Amino acid sequence: MRLSRYFLPVLKENPSEAQIVSHRYMLRAGMIKQSAAGIYSWLPLGFKVLKKIEGIVHEEQIRAGHVPMLMSTMQPADLWKESGRYDDYGQEMLRIKDRHDRDMLFGPTNEEMITDIFRAHVSSYKDLPLTLYQVQWKFRDEIRPRFGVMRGREFYMKDGYNFDLTKEDALHAYNRHLVSYLRTYERMGLQAIPMRADGGPIGGDYTHEFLVLAETGESEVFYDSAVTDLTFGDREIDYDSVEQCQGVLEEFTTKYARTDETHDEALFNEIPEDRRRTARGIEVGQIFYFGTKYSESMGAKVQTADGEVPVHMGSHGIGVSRLLGAIIEANHDDNGIIWPEGVTPFHCGIVNLKQGDEAADAACESLEKALAAVGLEALYDDRKERAGGKFATMDLIGLPWRITVGPRGLKNGVVELTSRRSGESEELTPEAAVAKLVEIYADHRTPQGF
Ligand code: ATP
Ligand code: MG
Repeated sequence: MRLSRYFLPVLKENPSEAQIVSHRYMLRAGMIKQSAAGIYSWLPLGFKVLKKIEGIVHEEQIRAGHVPMLMSTMQPADLWKESGRYDDYGQEMLRIKDRHDRDMLFGPTNEEMITDIFRAHVSSYKDLPLTLYQVQWKFRDEIRPRFGVMRGREFYMKDGYNFDLTKEDALHAYNRHLVSYLRTYERMGLQAIPMRADGGPIGGDYTHEFLVLAETGESEVFYDSAVTDLTFGDREIDYDSVEQCQGVLEEFTTKYARTDETHDEALFNEIPEDRRRTARGIEVGQIFYFGTKYSESMGAKVQTADGEVPVHMGSHGIGVSRLLGAIIEANHDDNGIIWPEGVTPFHCGIVNLKQGDEAADAACESLEKALAAVGLEALYDDRKERAGGKFATMDLIGLPWRITVGPRGLKNGVVELTSRRSGESEELTPEAAVAKLVEIYADHRTPQGF
């Protein structure tokens, strides 16, 4: 993609409304534009990252055996009256009347709607287990939308729902989700620590939140520093194996890690003092097992040899749009964003030091083509601008790798490959630079972006 043909409205000045670094950089890098408090349009660069994150979520959900679908954003109030949550949910629910004076709402979550779909089509235990999920816009009329996409009113969420015959099966689904979420966040270059949480309005005895440690996080967290040494890595796991999923859950949740809602000072004090940590975290996901709460109130039952029984359910959410903010909070410096390879909008930038120079222009064009041929997407800064300005833009938008091309290097047959994270550069032939990027991205295959 040539920058001159792209739409990247970068801002020179710091926007005064942004209080935290991720919000500031998302606005400055031309990723989002606010349309009303807590509601954003996603400009091309922001949209690209959003779709990469969504793509990783889909790949990992499908790998775990979960089935994608898409539910409507608008829901009839009747479903929520059935479950009893219409009145309980309070002012966060955006309630709308249609032209026939029917009560509607913009979905803040979908337990009722999925239960309605389930009961309409599933009646036998033979159809279980089943886990359905979607990635869809939600609306919660938050009292204080802030920090950009971190706490929006309209936000993008992966929400999944499992239906199982027994509590045991549903707990396997719970464990499977925990494992798949660990993998999902790691692929995005994040460490998200599962912490014992509180059920809130969704309810349930089993629930974990996933938190990314960051100073600007809204939650206060308490943990044993040993949890930060745990990584899932590239281990193979059989999602059907109860023992394997249970094993991973135990490995990642046995050490103390809790949010302020469930914090237990006495238990915390049992951790050796040098490992006790208090910090702040960003909630990027949550999983629940809530038993038969919705299936009983809404009649989601299956026929078994012993008669009709309500199904056991759980729900699971990932804050897809919030993740952009969380990733930036965890990956930036004073010059801008530093995207992890797994979610970067473009795999590398190409900076032409002398636009208009025949050799430099030709080299940049052939580099862009060579990268495309191996499935790597470059953003080629072909503007007639000073090199300093081009570097500043590349640093701000955070592409992890930059190839700098200039007439002087080309005389010696080389270009420069620079890491955004370390700042280190190396001179290579264009072919070697492409080969190096292929190697780097071999471990970070993301779904093709837009
Ligand atoms: P919070 O405690 O931050 O208000 P929640 O616990 O109400 O979130 P869930 O119902 O667990 O949220 O939703 C699943 C995920 O969706 C959360 O873990 C979070 O990452 C994301 N999310 C929730 N509310 C928002 C919001 N207002 N803006 C952006 N993302 C959100
Ligand atoms: Mg939550």
